[in-house]
Amino acid sequence: MIISEQMQGYAEKSSWIRKMFEEGARLKALYGQEQVYDFSLGNPDIPPPHRVIEAIEDYAAEISHGYMANAGYAETREQVASHGSVIYDVRLDAGDIVMSCGAGGGLNVVLKSILNPGDEVITLAPYFVEYGFYIQNHGGRLVSVPCNKEFLPDTRAIKEAITEKTRAIIINSPNNPTGRVYSRETIEGIRDALMDKPDILVISDEPYRRLVYDGVEVPSILKAIPNSLVVTSASKDISLAGERIGYIALGPGIADKDALCNALILSTRILGFVNAPALMQKVLAACMDCSIDIAIYRRRRNILMQVLDEAGLDYAPPEGAFYIFVHAPLGDDLAFSNALVHENILVVPGTGFGYKGYVRFAYCLDERYIQAAADGIKRIAQRLKD
Ligand code: PLP
Repeated sequence: MIISEQMQGYAEKSSWIRKMFEEGARLKALYGQEQVYDFSLGNPDIPPPHRVIEAIEDYAAEISHGYMANAGYAETREQVASHGSVIYDVRLDAGDIVMSCGAGGGLNVVLKSILNPGDEVITLAPYFVEYGFYIQNHGGRLVSVPCNKEFLPDTRAIKEAITEKTRAIIINSPNNPTGRVYSRETIEGIRDALMDKPDILVISDEPYRRLVYDGVEVPSILKAIPNSLVVTSASKDISLAGERIGYIALGPGIADKDALCNALILSTRILGFVNAPALMQKVLAACMDCSIDIAIYRRRRNILMQVLDEAGLDYAPPEGAFYIFVHAPLGDDLAFSNALVHENILVVPGTGFGYKGYVRFAYCLDERYIQAAADGIKRIAQRLKD
């Protein structure tokens, strides 16, 4: 066998993702793109704002495209720090920013920098499935702590999960797969749970920070929790997922911040990222205040919630991101997602997010598909309940 046992195991564990993908391709080939309602992908379908496209064109002709310092362009780090100081409401300098290849690249850089073999990282289930792989990439162990019924962190359970090997906790708000946003009180609850554990790093994974609806606030983790950092990207809010650009921002309260920053820079190099994409660093810095039209996602969320309500399906109403985590009839997420396939509807079973009994609908698709899928969703919900 040419591949490692670990990779073989990973491939088997994530086979349902492949299955969904293959099902989608099969259905699209059979019935045509228009007849398949693909709620399985968190891949933004709204084009990036005009200003972003213009910046790409302008900078493409202007910059050298060569290697640079592993942390990124000094000027870009300064611009990100100055913008970050406003949105996170703490003072950030260029030295607190390391540019990354998206949030996924940033998370790997952080975990590489902090984990010793066997160290534990707490994640709150349901969680972004890649966390497990990222943690294992760097010799760590994922410790899954289920959220409460509203998909908000259970601070007592977090406290109970802490051992002397706990090195970090990953939090993600607005959340994938639930769309829930953690309030100020919730964040303070996490801070209090970690009060006597100053060595545990809070990693706030925030690629959806700007995607919130109805004026909901996303509190600043950097301000609320001393030993914290933010990992984020332009993948979702300006639809640049394929361009792999993001950054890590180190909170002012991190003990030994310089050592951590240097480790992040070295990790960026030795993981083979070398540096975040040159062109995209320039584009991101020039477009820090840009966003796609969030009202489009809000409208889709509302339409989908109405469809789910009419189908009699339960979910905790999402305040952000572009996901709804829906309770499967009879709590069988695999049966629900398989049944939906017969209506040409693709979703992701909660099993893949470390949380059985639910399925994730992503609304990165035009609202006409949501409307077109409505009858199929209702039929399946009815059939499985009977
Ligand atoms: N974190 C969460 C919660 C996500 O949902 C995603 C992508 O879907 C990522 C991180 C990685 O995003 P990217 O690497 O494109 O920034």
